[in-house]
Amino acid sequence: MKLSSKILIGMTAGIAVGAVLNVLSAAEGSFVANLSAWLVNSVFDVVGSIFVASLKLLVVPLVFVSLVCGSSAMGLNARMGQMAAKTLGLYLLTTAIAISLALLLANVIDPGMGIELGDGGEFQPGPAPSVKEVLINIFPTNPVQAMVEGNMLQIIVFSILMGVAMTHSGEPGRKVLEFFQSFNEVIMTMVNFLMHLAPYGVFCLLAKLFSELGIGAILDLAKYFGTVVLVLGLHMLGVYPLLLKLFSGLNPLTFFKNVRPAILFGFSTASSNATMPITMNVAEKRIGIDNSIASFTVPLGATINMDGTAIMQGVATVFIAQAFNVDIGIGGYLAVIATATLASVGTAGVPGVGLITLAMVLQQVGLPVEGIALIIGVDRLLDMIRTAVNVTGDCVVSTVVAKSENLFDPAIYNEVSDRDTFQP
Ligand code: ASP
Repeated sequence: MKLSSKILIGMTAGIAVGAVLNVLSAAEGSFVANLSAWLVNSVFDVVGSIFVASLKLLVVPLVFVSLVCGSSAMGLNARMGQMAAKTLGLYLLTTAIAISLALLLANVIDPGMGIELGDGGEFQPGPAPSVKEVLINIFPTNPVQAMVEGNMLQIIVFSILMGVAMTHSGEPGRKVLEFFQSFNEVIMTMVNFLMHLAPYGVFCLLAKLFSELGIGAILDLAKYFGTVVLVLGLHMLGVYPLLLKLFSGLNPLTFFKNVRPAILFGFSTASSNATMPITMNVAEKRIGIDNSIASFTVPLGATINMDGTAIMQGVATVFIAQAFNVDIGIGGYLAVIATATLASVGTAGVPGVGLITLAMVLQQVGLPVEGIALIIGVDRLLDMIRTAVNVTGDCVVSTVVAKSENLFDPAIYNEVSDRDTFQP
């Protein structure tokens, strides 16, 4: 059986088992409830956490090594600047489209009308960094510290600098490059090893999550939940295929077949960062994007491009405004588009951060930040769905950029979807 099919089975089985355990654990103190608590906490949690830890383990070395190779292949020329500007522009454009679509549809559906206030939990927003701080922070003072902290933008800056310097260092640079290229192969093999554990890891992650998910909270907020899912679906299945066709002329159906493993991982881990090794593998080995493009666009996208998160923030803003009976007006909506696009840049690709940066958006238009407490109960499941969209968006932009730069292999794109990339 193909590995991607096995992962899909692991996912479905995990959701089913989790849902059954959720029902069983209702009878508190009974034997089945204790058994299900033991399974969830001592088996699923342990295996799932180890699996996510192993994925995260690869992120920093993968980005560093792969981007050094990629930027050294590009060298320091006008083309690199053009590629970077194109990537950045497309990331911002897709996010702005996402948030606009969310605001438009949320205003048609009115998810927050008739909501009873005061039935949510507590929410304390952390301090949001200023734009100035964000900009200065992109440049590392210590590359080792950047790696220890997993600060992706700083690692990107350092890797590009090193890769470009290698091309300009003649023979010594070539020698170092050879080492990095071999190192890159080794890390890709580690990703392959991990992929074979994926069906079990994904099963445990989802079984634990669904055993704890409060279905009641989702029913209470069905209109909000449904609106976010609807806009996420429209963006994923409408906007992305359109952009792909328009900018690169590629068949969107083939694209989705190729990107499937990354979508499944984004959903299971709710983290663009943890999914990055898979996204990189998918971009290079299944879509056919050259390493010199993917090694830059994928980590950058996982860090700054969050279309799904922006969609949640758009719908949440309208929902909270309606629940608190505040009219933010057209100017307010424009401010939301600008802030949510920037918030998406500042949202780290880890679970739940989208809610924290939502505080920034709400503050910008003078809405009560406590409103977040209203939607926090359903955020975990939405986080998974929006992360799948975030990761897909990174792949769409990477594909468009690679195609336009002629660093794209159509043979891989058209053939690989029927074969399993992860078999050695
Ligand atoms: N979990 C999301 C991601 O990693 C970020 C968020 O929306 O919270 O892409």
